[in-house]
Amino acid sequence: MTEIKGSTRILGIIGWPIEHSLSPLMQNRAIAACGQDLVFVPFPVHPNALAAAVTGLRSLGVAGFNVTIPHKNAIIPLLDEVTPEARMMGAVNTVQCDGSRLVGHNTDGPGLLRALTEEFGFNPAGRRVLLIGAGGAARAALVSLARAGAVVTVANRTEEKGTELVNACRQGVAGAELAVSSLDILGAPELSRFDLIVNSTSVGMWGTAFTELDAGCLQPTTMVYDMVYAPLETPLLKTARERGAPAANGLSMLAAQGELAFAIWTGAPPPAGLMRETLLTAVTESD
Ligand code: NAP
Repeated sequence: MTEIKGSTRILGIIGWPIEHSLSPLMQNRAIAACGQDLVFVPFPVHPNALAAAVTGLRSLGVAGFNVTIPHKNAIIPLLDEVTPEARMMGAVNTVQCDGSRLVGHNTDGPGLLRALTEEFGFNPAGRRVLLIGAGGAARAALVSLARAGAVVTVANRTEEKGTELVNACRQGVAGAELAVSSLDILGAPELSRFDLIVNSTSVGMWGTAFTELDAGCLQPTTMVYDMVYAPLETPLLKTARERGAPAANGLSMLAAQGELAFAIWTGAPPPAGLMRETLLTAVTESD
């Protein structure tokens, strides 16, 4: 843990609730490993207090902060600048404080791409991806996958939301090859045509499963990535492993988005693998 001195700068995360966040643990571990004169703290910020909190963080001269649910979208008009990618995603998860200027980034989508490379050696260009979900995490994933050249089908429980997401992405990403489906695709022979399936819904937390999934339709060659990381093995991942398919949970994405944020704030990446190891220990202990 950093010794707090008069010169120590503050990093943090704003969200509501925030007690469950693993970011303080992994970011402080990285700060210590790099000998940075920084400390990372959780800030519980009620939705009604977001504007006041951002004004306060700006006045206090913090070095940067993460943004989590429910503020990722609402913070955008409060910032001085937002990267084009984060604007397309409609979400900011990392704020860089450049003097008194606040610059919004999104490291969730790039974090997913980095995680897919680490886990599977996956290169999205021209590959067929089934993205399950149409919430905030799905939007970041879709923009990053589409910009990297993947051919993406979005399947969501509420199908209109899937259609809205795909239409928004088509407007933002020129030439994106996108389609929409229902969750029934998880039990259909068409499932076999995907190179990669990404779950970006909360299904899998608390051991919940997709009732539509037919294991027989899942090919052993199809990679399966589940953004859920608690439990470490969701029913979807268990099914994929039983079929012999490469399967990975969302810990690598959580670590990668944190590494990218750390590099934005400090100008250098943390030691490779440190954040992921920290997360794995924490989740295993609470699993
Ligand atoms: P969100 O905006 O609230 O979206 C939730 C999504 O889950 C929607 O598509 C919703 O479908 C779907 N869903 C919820 N319950 C469902 C059910 N019973 N059956 C089928 N679909 C269901 O949440 P989010 O921010 O996108 O986060 C989604 C998940 O990703 C969470 O588990 C979160 O922890 C995880 N996540 C992980 C990382 C990481 O770094 N690993 C990063 C971000 C998020 P409807 O539209 O039909 O409601």
